[in-house]
Amino acid sequence: MASEKDAALAAMPSDSPTIFDKIINKEIPSNIVYEDDKVLAFRDIEPQAPVHIVIIPKVKDGLTGISKKHSEILGRLLYTSKLVAKQEGLEDGFRLVINDGPKGGQSVNHLHIHLLGGRQMNWPPG
Ligand code: IMP
Repeated sequence: MASEKDAALAAMPSDSPTIFDKIINKEIPSNIVYEDDKVLAFRDIEPQAPVHIVIIPKVKDGLTGISKKHSEILGRLLYTSKLVAKQEGLEDGFRLVINDGPKGGQSVNHLHIHLLGGRQMNWPPG
C-alpha cells in the first residue's frame, strides 16, 4: 500500500476526474449523510475516528489549492460541516481538517473538508 505521502504526490497536480466526481455523479456507491445543490457530505471509506465525514463542493472548478475564488464555497463547506456535526450528535466537539497539496497530505485532487469526531483528538496531528 502506498504511503500517505506517495498517495498525495500521485494525486498532484491534475484536473482529471477523481473518485469524488464519481461519488457526486452517483457512479459509485457512497454513504451520503448530507446533500444540497452545492455540497455533498459522505462517510470516509477509511475512517480515522468513529465519525469521519468528507464534505465537498459539487463543482470542480480548479479546486486544487485554495485561492480567493474559493472564499464563498469554503464558507458554505464550513457551515455545512457545522450542520453535519450537529446531525451526527457531536455536541462535545469535533475537528475539521483540510489537507492541501502534497505536503498537506492531500490524496484526492478535489477540495474537501474532513469532519472528525466521536473520540478525543490529539495535538499535534501527524
Ligand atoms: P485527503 O487525503 O485529504 O485527500 O482525503 C481523501 C479522503 O477520501 C481519504 O480520507 C480517503 O479515505 C477518502 N476516500 C477516498 N475514496 C473514497 C471513497 O470512495 N469513498 C469515501 N471516501 C473515500
